[in-house]
Amino acid sequence: VEPSSMFYVDANFIKSFFIKRKKFDHKGTFGHSLLIGGSFGKIGAIVLATKAAIGAGSGLTTAFIPKCGYDILQTSVPEAMVEIDNDLELAYFNYKVNPTVIGLGMGMGTSEKTIEGFYRFLKHNSTPLVIDADAINILSKKPSFLELLPPETILTPHPKELERLIGKWSNDYEKIDLMTDFTEKHNCILVNKGANTLVVYKKEKYFNSTGNPGLAKGGSGDVLTGMITGLLAQKYTALQASILGIYLHGKAADCALEKGISEESLTASDVIQHIDNAFAFF
Ligand code: AMP
Ligand code: MG
Repeated sequence: VEPSSMFYVDANFIKSFFIKRKKFDHKGTFGHSLLIGGSFGKIGAIVLATKAAIGAGSGLTTAFIPKCGYDILQTSVPEAMVEIDNDLELAYFNYKVNPTVIGLGMGMGTSEKTIEGFYRFLKHNSTPLVIDADAINILSKKPSFLELLPPETILTPHPKELERLIGKWSNDYEKIDLMTDFTEKHNCILVNKGANTLVVYKKEKYFNSTGNPGLAKGGSGDVLTGMITGLLAQKYTALQASILGIYLHGKAADCALEKGISEESLTASDVIQHIDNAFAFF
């Protein structure tokens, strides 16, 4: 890796591209985020992602989910609009809104119906995408789908999801090389989640400085994908949204600890609650 293409993501780095809101901005300025995901027993994932997109500043936010999550979403996220799939699981992807950006995969499942529906969705879609969790797992099972991704799609795998996507590595250098090749081949951005989350976009590598082991708990990643989606809906580029997303997500978790929450007890909902403290630095 050439040193000149490596960056450490700290507050100064974020300040170099952070966009302040202006007095006459309105919700249309900040885009429309569509979050697609959820399945029976995994509606929580899409609830968290939807709340996080709103917390990150998305102007309008819609969740597209299976019917079993309808009441849950409407009750737990009154700020969001909700649309449901024609099938009982995600199969038709028949949403009616016209989003600026789509974040998908959280709790989505990988049934045959969902895989087929996801394929038809990708064939017709040209809206920028943030792809997580089961949607990444589907891409790993069906690599030919990768050709259908719009340019600069953001993928947010945790280590296991990354391994399924790019194959096994024997050390960190090899991992970064595999990530570089993948992003060049598919013109996408890879967010390798963990301590010091790493964003790779071709020759460029960005290492995060925020976050703590309290984030090692189910739900954390769903919050991150929601935040990146909400940032991409605003006027950030895909790379900027990825970098700002990982930074604010980790910072929100750090702020929660400063307020007295322990690493052990930290929840994904706590992270959402502290997004405001993270933004306060800019
Ligand atoms: P997921 O596995 O999809 O729930 O994603 C986990 C989230 O928590 C990612 O944003 C990781 O970067 C973050 N995370 C997990 N473990 C740690 C850790 N030890 N230190 C900092 N962040 C972590
Ligand atoms: Mg996850």
